[in-house]
Amino acid sequence: MVPFKKSFESSVINTIKRYSLASKNERIIVACSGGKDSTTVLNILHANHYNVQALHMDLGMGKWSKQNKKNIASFCKERGIVLHLTSAREYMGSSVCYIKGKVQAKKKLTPCAICGVLKKWILNRKSRELKADKVATGHNLDDESRTFMMNIFNGNPELCFDSGPMKEMGEGLLVPRIKPLYLTSVKDIERYSMENNFPVVYERCPCSADSFGRGIYNEITALERYLPDIKENIVKTSLEMQSKKKKQAGVIRCRLCGEPSRKGICRTCSMISSNLPKN
Ligand code: AMP
Ligand code: ZN
Repeated sequence: MVPFKKSFESSVINTIKRYSLASKNERIIVACSGGKDSTTVLNILHANHYNVQALHMDLGMGKWSKQNKKNIASFCKERGIVLHLTSAREYMGSSVCYIKGKVQAKKKLTPCAICGVLKKWILNRKSRELKADKVATGHNLDDESRTFMMNIFNGNPELCFDSGPMKEMGEGLLVPRIKPLYLTSVKDIERYSMENNFPVVYERCPCSADSFGRGIYNEITALERYLPDIKENIVKTSLEMQSKKKKQAGVIRCRLCGEPSRKGICRTCSMISSNLPKN
């Protein structure tokens, strides 16, 4: 029988090949939170001789953030992987945690929604500055099935068409984002990470405890009892929808910060009132 670690790695490499996510001559920045998912992506790409560097964003969430930063730093040091650091402070003047508090007081958004928007903006800007060809994230099957269902519950069909293992938008504004763990379950990732003794924190982000997304995730997971493939089926539906998607109209730049946006003003700028540095 093929050992678990080996079959796990092959399945991730298969996803990369099946969706043409990356090639060995591309410069890939792995967005590393310090958690099991992105550490797994970094480990597999590095071990398979992809040209990878890591990028960690300090979210400024006390002890939890400090531990994550320490963990990813030691992981990269041990393997000789270049690690870049960034934070909301670099572009927005204060930490994600602080901005989140401010925005929440004004707008009815969950902490995860605010954090997610800020993270995407910062990761894209920083990896473009680092001249990355691709940014790899640790999004997995469980994340993707949850997000798809959230978009349905929120009545956002256009976002259902806009997921997938790779996201590209023209003109080099958005560094293409790839998800090598798109078809990989969180259970297998956790096992792989533990068997490898990766220095990672397994607890969830302290801010995510009662988010809407967590509620949906728990419901889907509970339904696995009746339908063990429920997450695979949701992602299959999502992939099918994406294959039917019409070609996207030209990319729009946010009028305020110049980053890619669906509307005239991007979600980050509409959340925070201070001016962001224009690219
Ligand atoms: P999350 O939205 O926390 O589920 O994270 C999804 C993915 O975004 C992770 O797998 C990472 O690839 C990336 N990510 C999240 N937080 C950070 C961070 N602090 N620094 C760099 N990348 C991150
Ligand atoms: Zn903007």
